Amino acid sequence: MAKRIIVLGSGVAGSMVANRLAKSMQKEIYSGEVEVLVIGNKKQHLYQPGFLFMSFNEGTLEQFSREQKHLLHPKVKFILEEATKIDTANNTVTTTKQSYNYDFLVIATGSYPDFNSVPGLAEASHNFYTPEGAAKLRDELFKFKGGTILMTIDVPHKCPVAPLEWIFMADELFRDLGIRDKVTLKYTYPIGRIHSLEPVAEWAEAEFEKRGIEYEVFFNLEEVDPNKKLAYNMDGTAHPYDLLISVPAHVGAKVVRDSNIGDEDGFIPTDRYSLKMIGQDNVYVLGDATNLPVSKAGSTAHYQADVVVKNIISQIKGLPASHRYSGKAFCFIESGLNEATYIWFDYKTPPQPMPSSEMLHWFKLAYNELYWLSVRGIM
Ligand SMILES: Cc1cc2nc3c(=O)[nH]c(=O)nc-3n(C[C@H](O)[C@H](O)[C@H](O)COP(=O)(O)OP(=O)(O)OC[C@H]3O[C@@H](n4cnc5c(N)ncnc54)[C@H](O)[C@@H]3O)c2cc1C
Repeated sequence: MAKRIIVLGSGVAGSMVANRLAKSMQKEIYSGEVEVLVIGNKKQHLYQPGFLFMSFNEGTLEQFSREQKHLLHPKVKFILEEATKIDTANNTVTTTKQSYNYDFLVIATGSYPDFNSVPGLAEASHNFYTPEGAAKLRDELFKFKGGTILMTIDVPHKCPVAPLEWIFMADELFRDLGIRDKVTLKYTYPIGRIHSLEPVAEWAEAEFEKRGIEYEVFFNLEEVDPNKKLAYNMDGTAHPYDLLISVPAHVGAKVVRDSNIGDEDGFIPTDRYSLKMIGQDNVYVLGDATNLPVSKAGSTAHYQADVVVKNIISQIKGLPASHRYSGKAFCFIESGLNEATYIWFDYKTPPQPMPSSEMLHWFKLAYNELYWLSVRGIM
């Protein structure tokens, strides 16, 4: 009987793991000793960082999507079904159609903004975290002639630097359009500084001062009144807006929450080094689905994929699963429409933003294209 590896979720993390497993275990797959199945509920694979660019009319959804089956190695079986239950006691994943047994399971089911976490938010706010949201925001942005743009943020959320990128890009857009003096840009953050990573907060605060971007810390959105166009902070203060942009707290996938294998927000307790689900020897978790204190980012998934693949191959060969994730993440940060910086960090090294440059902006744009090679496991 072939050893079956199920990868649940066909986003960046799941696709990378499946493709790298198939490449590294070609011999075993051809001889029928191993099979790799991906269960995913999306026919189209979306490159989510593209939504930021879409909201500034710097790209279209067509540009940032590919058909999922074409991104997978020919020896990976793609099952386009919705998983409804993960049963680690019986080594099965159930979908709306049937149950699948596994020898190894990789959970890569992502994270999702919860627009219902605050009363009035879903109705009142715009966003650039979904393709529909980004398209709608683009249309609003290019109609905007002046007033207050308020951004509210809650944690955890994926791509922790994306809200800063959006504000910097908006600042430059309105300067280019010659209406920056008519627009108040106000950024808020729920803790005592403007970003959870201290060096990033220090760098961004200096940039905000330079560019006249207003900010408020300890801002925890409690309610929005779409009729009065007021956003209420937990301290009771009311904040007027003309355009509200929100990045709400994220939660884990429904299947994780329904299977009771996550914490209260649906993130799966994961060993920070081996990436095994806590208490399970044959279940790995990576990408946004983990509860690890690392950025929920595609680059995080990239570095984690390497560890998960090596550990599964070791276990199949009867060797110790000794490969360790270092906590590494790398993020380009757009600091305007034509320049960017970057940060990298791991469990031991804090991030340090580099000076912004046009070249780094072009690197970020180049990565938007290289992503399709990366997700195929080619680089
Ligand atoms: C606006 C924006 C900008 C970003 N910018 C960056 C950036 O510059 N750099 C960076 O590194 N990251 C960035 N990110 C974050 C990055 O996109 C995510 O961290 C990354 O996609 C996480 O990968 P994942 O595979 O864990 O989850 P996802 O890519 O979200 O994939 C999860 C998959 O699981 C599937 N799934 C869920 N439940 C089920 C089920 N029940 N059955 C079957 N399938 C299921 C989903 O449909 C999805 O395909 C950005 C994100 C956004 C929204």
